Amino acid sequence: MRHRRSIELMPRENAADYGSTLELLPEWYVLVAKCGACRHQGRIDRRMIAKTYGWGVHLNSIGRTLKCSRCGNREGNKLLLGRLPRD
Ligand SMILES: [Zn+2]
Repeated sequence: MRHRRSIELMPRENAADYGSTLELLPEWYVLVAKCGACRHQGRIDRRMIAKTYGWGVHLNSIGRTLKCSRCGNREGNKLLLGRLPRD
């Protein structure tokens, strides 16, 4: 079975390789939040983050600010980086 047009996800630890702040993250990466409680994953609009926390916010601090849109959980949420497929 194929993944539904999935984006490649990497653990957020790799974020440091691509610049540690939101403004340094290349455009072809998308931000994905993963809920620590219900495992729900959802794309995040980086502009929404920037609006609230500024472009200088560190990628590894974003996870703590996330709230799950499905269950409302705020604990243990992770920020993942996805790469858009190039086709
Ligand atoms: Zn959740």
